[in-house]
Order: sequence, then C-alpha cells, then structure tokens
Amino acid sequence: MRVGLFGGSFNPIHLGHLRAAEEVREALKLDLVYFIPAASPPHKQSSELAPAEHRLAMVRAATKGNRHFMTSDVEIRRSGRSYTIDTVRHFLATLKQPAPLYLMMGGDQFAELDSWKEPEELTRLCNFVVHTRLIEGKEGPARISVAALKRFGYNQADDHYVHSSGQTLSFVDTTFLPISATEIRGNLQLGESIRYLVPFDVVDYVQRHSLY
Ligand code: ATP
Repeated sequence: MRVGLFGGSFNPIHLGHLRAAEEVREALKLDLVYFIPAASPPHKQSSELAPAEHRLAMVRAATKGNRHFMTSDVEIRRSGRSYTIDTVRHFLATLKQPAPLYLMMGGDQFAELDSWKEPEELTRLCNFVVHTRLIEGKEGPARISVAALKRFGYNQADDHYVHSSGQTLSFVDTTFLPISATEIRGNLQLGESIRYLVPFDVVDYVQRHSLY
C-alpha cells in the first residue's frame, strides 16, 4: 500500500489540484491519495480563507467518484496552525498497516522547505513527490537547488533522489493547468463565472453557501 498526502488550503479546490494529484498518483503508483485541507496554513494570510468546514466539504465533493482519492479532516480537527510534520506523524501512527508515505506538493511549495517546521525530520520520515507548477515570470519549474538538496541529505540516483534515511524525492512533470485559487476568488468577487475551473459540484457548493 502506497499512500500519498496532499495538503493545501484548497480555498477552493480546483482542477489544477485534481489533475496534478491524478497524474502523480499514476506516476508513483499510489493506492490512495489523502487530500488534507489545512485549518490555518502557516504561510497564508487568513482573511480570505473560507471556513474550514466549507473547504473540507468542497474537497469531499470534488474527490468523490475517484476510489483512490480520500479526504482527511485531521488538520481541521487539530485546529491552530497546520504543520505538515504533525500530520505525517499522525498518519504514521494511525495507518492500519505500515505504508510508505508520499508527501505531494507543487514545486513552489517545495522551494520553501527550509521555512517549514522540522524540515530535516520530515525528509527522514516520508518520501517527497514534487509536481511541476510553472510560476508566471519564471523560466522553468520552481525546483530547489542541488546544493540545498545535498544539505537536506539527498543524493541523486537515476531519475530521483535518495535521502540518507532511504526515503526518496521524485519530481513528476504533470500537465500544468494554470488555475489558481486566488484567481478563482477574484472571479467570484467580480461576479464572474468559475465553471470549468472547478468541478461542477464545487461551483454548486460555492453558490449555495455564497462563499467568497
Ligand atoms: P492560493 O491561490 O489561494 O494561494 P494555491 O492553489 O496556490 O492557492 P494551495 O491550495 O495551498 O494553494 O495549494 C495546494 C497545493 O497545490 C500546493 O502544493 C500547490 O503547489 C499546488 N497547486 C496549486 N495550484 C496548482 C495548479 N494549478 N496546478 C498544480 N498544482 C497546484
């Protein structure tokens, strides 16, 4: 059993998140991918953040129908700041069978690994899988420098990196859908359509609850 953990503010979840998760799942042959909305993401301003229960409900609506996709409310139940290290420890302690964990994220997030809580411990406890997310104005996918990877204890092996603990780091080139939650919220504030940027059920949910 190979388990992916995909955390984010999902404010709201959109097709960019979903397509990247699906391609990473296939590439890494993951059996399950847990989408984990953050209660209070450490790197984000909270004023524009929809209430956690709404973001969770939208993730549930967006992922239903894919038997590999699960939703976890662990960070929302924990409340306070959502640190990935706490979430990884939770999964390691509670999975029914021991399973390798694959922490999934876009390159933009991985590039900030240094500023996370206990990054060295995180690289020892789980595998990382980084999907490319092209950032406007930057030439290539945002990747951390090779020097920084060495500092974290990674060495290159074929098409991926291996940590001194044995955990791996892989980069997966996914089809980039240039959709951002910030833009979606902007569309809504201007009264513009968000159809085909998010699944239908999410459009419906946003309208019914007058979010954003
Ligand atoms: P915001 O615009 O509100 O900052 P965001 O989509 O950048 O939202 P999150 O919801 O926290 O922020 O992102 C969750 C994860 O999804 C991150 O790892 C991020 O890199 C990745 N991600 C976000 N947008 C895309 C996209 N269009 N394609 C692929 N990955 C994405």
